[in-house]
Amino acid sequence: MKVTYKAAAKINLMLDILTRLDNGYHSLFMIMQSVGLYDTVSVETACGADITLTCSDNRLPCDSSNIAYKAALAFFDATGAENCGIKIDIDKKIPFAAGMAGGSADGAAVISALDEIFDTKLTLREKCAIGLKVGADVPFCLTGGTCLAQNVGDVLSPLPDLADCYIVLAKPERGVSTKEAFAAFDKNDRIRHLDTCGMLYAASQGDFNGICKRAKNVFEQLIEVPERVPIKATMNRYSAVTACMSGSGPTVYGIFDDESKAIACSQSLSEIVKEVFVTKPVRLGVEKV
Ligand code: ATP
Repeated sequence: MKVTYKAAAKINLMLDILTRLDNGYHSLFMIMQSVGLYDTVSVETACGADITLTCSDNRLPCDSSNIAYKAALAFFDATGAENCGIKIDIDKKIPFAAGMAGGSADGAAVISALDEIFDTKLTLREKCAIGLKVGADVPFCLTGGTCLAQNVGDVLSPLPDLADCYIVLAKPERGVSTKEAFAAFDKNDRIRHLDTCGMLYAASQGDFNGICKRAKNVFEQLIEVPERVPIKATMNRYSAVTACMSGSGPTVYGIFDDESKAIACSQSLSEIVKEVFVTKPVRLGVEKV
């Protein structure tokens, strides 16, 4: 049996770090949004008790360090389903180490696929509990849409859908390690925190302009991305409603209310960065193909 799921990238409409927890993790305030840029993940039953993994991007590991592989192990561990051999194939379109949760999206797709193959009928909450063992963004990738994410990202509250718009993603070449980004926060005691209350109110009302006005990310105070200034300047020149970095970077997104401006902006951005995508907000994190 073979099933295929597409797994959506995410952006952070807001990301603030509230505090460092005693266990070394961080308490976060994030407004998450799924966007229509997808990896395609196929899972197929095979012979033997191995998990084998192939990936279209040869820069990513195909062994047990791949997040998709870890998600499969976590699934078998939690459900007790017997692994009689599976093959995972990832067609990678979401840039990695980009602040778009590409690895977590693949993990979410594997959990959904295995739930279907083994007919384990997991609830969303059960899938999220398995996903959390693999990565803090996996529960959101399973949930999708527009959500407030708190604690390490695992406490999720659904919000009204973001209004229809166009989201341009510009990914500078350098990758950013999320671990190093949090280490930079720990060393800095001069963070200017964000208007989280105002953002939550705007998001709960589905107030598009209120959300865009408050779209901010504390990692912009911590992570240097040289291309960020020209990317934002270009987005502003093409009348982006807002422009902000996603996750721990380096991807910068611009939100547009007009498709032609978004496309013209993406063409201009191609002169600054190689990877540029025009997307839209989507409601689902994982979707059967
Ligand atoms: P986040 O926004 O959740 O912090 P990210 O977009 O910054 O995530 P990912 O793309 O999820 O980062 O990948 C982080 C690291 O995990 C990469 O550097 C990569 O080596 C490793 N990795 C392992 N498996 C995968 C996978 N299936 N897809 C992407 N990266 C993976």
